Amino acid sequence: GIRLHEEIGRVKQIFKAAQIHFICDENFSLTNVSLLTENILSMCLKEAVTNVVKHSEATSCTISIEQSWKEIVMIISDNGVFKGSKETVTEGHGLIGMKERLEFINGNLELMKKEGTTLTIRVPNDVK
Ligand code: ATP
Ligand code: MG
Repeated sequence: GIRLHEEIGRVKQIFKAAQIHFICDENFSLTNVSLLTENILSMCLKEAVTNVVKHSEATSCTISIEQSWKEIVMIISDNGVFKGSKETVTEGHGLIGMKERLEFINGNLELMKKEGTTLTIRVPNDVK
């Protein structure tokens, strides 16, 4: 499994290589998050970033990760052009894979197409 901070490190390199400006507050901290949840978030981040590099033609991408009393919210937004159709979420494997894994931990995913693509991922805090 991969920790989220590690994945952010990789993401940074990927964006650097792709010459996409990357904005992220790397000093986020997560408390009481299980490895499973963290691994799923890392996998989603990786897939979302792959999509930005592969499809968006963006010049910049912003990632935010925040935890509240209720949930962890991870937002990946780019300033490119969304390339999918209405049925997008059922076309590739990436978004479906994310959705399925998130459902497994009662999380969800929301895709917004407006001035680029914004993917909002929410997962509830682990119940102790
Ligand atoms: P796979 O992930 O299986 O390699 P894929 O990337 O095409 O294939 P998805 O990740 O499910 O599949 O994405 C579906 C489609 O949504 C993409 O083919 C692309 O058209 C569009 N898309 C997804 N993310 C972005 C993005 N950030 N910018 C532009 N288009 C996107
Ligand atoms: Mg993909």
